Amino acid sequence: MRYDKYRAVIVGGGLVGASLALALARAGKRVALLEAGEPAVDDLEQGWDARIYAVSPANRRFLEGMGAWPDMARIGTIASMDVRGDAGGRVSFSAAQLRDSGAELITGARAKTLATTPGEARLMLEDGRELAAELLVGADGANSWVRSQLDLQASVKPYGQSGVVANFACELPHQGIARQWFFGDSILAWLPMAGNRISMVWSTPDPQSLLQLSPEELAARVAEAGGRQLGAFATLTAAAAFPLRLIQPEAVAAERVALIGDAAHTVHPLAGQGVNLGFQDAAQLAGLLDAAPDCGDWMLLRRYQRQRREAVAAMQFGCDGLYRLFHAKLPGLPWLRNTGLSLTNCLTPLKRQFARQAIGY
Ligand SMILES: Cc1cc2nc3c(=O)[nH]c(=O)nc-3n(C[C@H](O)[C@H](O)[C@H](O)COP(=O)(O)OP(=O)(O)OC[C@H]3O[C@@H](n4cnc5c(N)ncnc54)[C@H](O)[C@@H]3O)c2cc1C
Repeated sequence: MRYDKYRAVIVGGGLVGASLALALARAGKRVALLEAGEPAVDDLEQGWDARIYAVSPANRRFLEGMGAWPDMARIGTIASMDVRGDAGGRVSFSAAQLRDSGAELITGARAKTLATTPGEARLMLEDGRELAAELLVGADGANSWVRSQLDLQASVKPYGQSGVVANFACELPHQGIARQWFFGDSILAWLPMAGNRISMVWSTPDPQSLLQLSPEELAARVAEAGGRQLGAFATLTAAAAFPLRLIQPEAVAAERVALIGDAAHTVHPLAGQGVNLGFQDAAQLAGLLDAAPDCGDWMLLRRYQRQRREAVAAMQFGCDGLYRLFHAKLPGLPWLRNTGLSLTNCLTPLKRQFARQAIGY
């Protein structure tokens, strides 16, 4: 059987997989990026994504180094709440940008089988194409197909909540302030975006109560829940819901395979750090592969796994701990919530501690 041979094949063209493909291609490696979906529309007016990211300074440098920092029109800077970095950028990698870098983009295609030998990983696609690589990277999200093909057991703990995301235009200037409310059984966060716009993540056990609302009703409900601090809202993107789970695989490396991004770990979005952890995976793996004669060398993959373990565990421990603290039914906690103290204002030292380890500022 004849396989098309690459230094690395990446399964999953989300933010994290695409960033690694770009980094490896820019370093002169032959790399293929396999994405089940079609390339996203990247139009400023039409292409607002419901999920908005606060990107850490270290990851901003990683993205800037590849020329992949997004259009400034979409970036808002968080001035308050002690969130370090920039938010509101719809970080995206266009198909043209990836192709220009030399990465081979295979879209609308799914993998059918994965096999590894001590010398290479082999992927057969549903359309019959066959790819071989020194290294296969699973960047295919929380329900990772790659992870399921290997003997990589993962502990999956559902939070019993979904994250409902949507973007809004607001009547009053947000002044670059990120706002967060703890309501006992749910957490509402507003992130400032460029202009008079905000992005919302509402972690709630009852997503349907928000999803069933008309755009006008949703805007009114969200503005009201935040005490109308930013006046009236108008809905920009329809609400979408994502089940929230804590995913902790026992290992993120196997023979000729590495996992990155949500395939390798998930965290509760209350600290808005999921994609930062993923970018760090990509940056560290790209750094290790830079001068490697064999991208799938087992010692190198072990080193990647060791390097990431502590930072990921610290972030998961921190986010999970904060989640449990704010959902514990302890005397005094309702009072704390009702004072309206924000997560970061009251827990800054704790957040700094795990953020410093994970983000590297
Ligand atoms: C409600 C919610 C709010 C969040 N808010 C924030 C936030 O404010 N800040 C933050 O940093 N993070 C946030 N996160 C986390 C963040 O969205 C994720 O950590 C990040 O998007 C993960 O990126 P990824 O590239 O690893 O995975 P994904 O974005 O899931 O991408 C995986 C890609 O793989 C493709 N794929 C899947 N299976 C296959 C297959 N078999 N073959 C080929 N392709 C495949 C998919 O089509 C997809 O494009 C939030 C998450 C949720 C759920």
